[in-house]
Amino acid sequence: MRDTQFYEALLGLSDPWKVTKVELNSAAGRVDVWIEDRSSFKWNCPECQEKVSVYDHSEERVWRHLNTCQFGTYIHCRLPRVKCPTHGVKQVPAPWAEPGSRFTLLFENWVIDTLKECDITGANHLTGTTWYEAWNIMDKAVERGLRRKQKRVPEYLGVDEKSFAKRHRYETLICDLSKGTVECVIDDRRQESLEAYFGQFSKEELKEIKAVVMDMWDPYIAATKAFVPDADKKIVFDRFHVMQQVTEAVDKVRRQEHKALMAEGDDRLKGTKHLWLMNEEKIPGWRREEFDEIRKTELKTARAWAIKESLRRFWDYRYPKNAQKYFKRWYFWATHSKLRPVIEAAKTLKRRLPNILSYFEHRITNAVTEGLNSKIQMIKQMACGFRNQEHYRKAILFHCGGLDLYARCPEQPPSPVNTTISCMTHGKL
Ligand SMILES: [Zn+2]
Repeated sequence: MRDTQFYEALLGLSDPWKVTKVELNSAAGRVDVWIEDRSSFKWNCPECQEKVSVYDHSEERVWRHLNTCQFGTYIHCRLPRVKCPTHGVKQVPAPWAEPGSRFTLLFENWVIDTLKECDITGANHLTGTTWYEAWNIMDKAVERGLRRKQKRVPEYLGVDEKSFAKRHRYETLICDLSKGTVECVIDDRRQESLEAYFGQFSKEELKEIKAVVMDMWDPYIAATKAFVPDADKKIVFDRFHVMQQVTEAVDKVRRQEHKALMAEGDDRLKGTKHLWLMNEEKIPGWRREEFDEIRKTELKTARAWAIKESLRRFWDYRYPKNAQKYFKRWYFWATHSKLRPVIEAAKTLKRRLPNILSYFEHRITNAVTEGLNSKIQMIKQMACGFRNQEHYRKAILFHCGGLDLYARCPEQPPSPVNTTISCMTHGKL
C-alpha cells in the first residue's frame, strides 16, 4: 500500500477526494498530507444542490488533524469553488471540518473529550492547543449543542441561585430534574431573570410544567406565578431549604445562649456550633457521648435542636393530610417554645405551608440541582482562567447541559440527485 492510499484509508476519503502527497518531517515531528479533488467531478451547488462544474480552487488551507503515532498531522487542501447559474461562485465545504475551522472534526472532538476530563490548561498540554483555541472549541461545542437541542419545557424544573465570583453576583440555574441537567444559566436572581427563561415559551408549552422546586425566594415565586398556569399548585419549596430555615434558628438560639452563659463564666456551649447544625445521625462517633450529655440538659439550644429534629419526621409522611396534621402539632410546640428565632421560623413556614405541602404531591427537591452545584463548584475551581461570567456560563452548559457537543460533517440538505458524500466520522453518507 502506498503512503497516499494509506492516508486515504486513514482519513476515510473517497471519490472525488484523494491524497496526492504525504510528507514526513521527523525533526519537526509532523506529517503533512495533501488532499485534492478529481477535476472532472460534478459537484452539487451548496445552495440548491444543482449539478455544477468546478470554477476554480481557493487558496490552500491547513487543518490540524489527530496525531499519526507521535507526529502532529496536518491536512492541506485547496477547496474547489463551483459556479452555479443561480447562486454564482460558491465554496464547496470540506467533509472533514466545519466551515471556518482550522481543525478537523475528529481533532475538535478529541479536544472536546479532553476538556470533559480536565480544565482548559490541562487540555492545552494534552492536545497542543492554546488557551484561546481550546476555549473556542468549547464555546463552539456549546453553541452547536444549543442549536441541536429540542426546544421544550421540562416537566419538572429546579430553580436555584448560584453565586459567581465573590458572592456579590448571582446566576440563576434552571435545571431539568428528570434528566439531571442544567437547562439554562441566567444572569442575576431577580424576577426578570427567571421570567427571561419562561418568556421563551408559549402559554400552551408552559402548561406542560408539572412542578417547579425552588427556595422560598420571592422573585422566583413571582416569576413563576406570572408565567406558569396553576403555579399555586405547582410551586414546591425545597425541603432542604425549609429545614435550613429552622437550622438557622437553632444556630441563632445557640449564639444568644452561648453569649449569656459566657457572661456567667459557663462555657458548656463552647466548640459545639457544628454539632447543633448536624442531623442526629451525622454526629461523629467520637463526639456522640459529649453531645448526648449536652442535649439532655435544660439548655435552650438543646430544645431548639429537638424541635428542628422533630420537623425532619414531617417529610416521611405519604399523604398531605397526615403531614398537615403533623405540622399543626409541630407548629404548636415550636410557637410555644419561648425561643424567638424558632417561633419566627415556624411562622415563616406556616405562611408558606401550601407550597411546602405540595412536596407530598410531587416529591421533588433541588437535590439534583445540589448535585450539579457540586459539579459547578468544581468547574469554578478549575476555571481560574474564566475571566467573565459568559465563560463561566458556557463551561456550566458544556459540563452539565447534557448537550450533543460533537462536531459532525456539515448536515447536507436532502438532495434530489443521489450523491454520496464522505465523512470522517460517519464514512459514506
Ligand atoms: Zn445553486
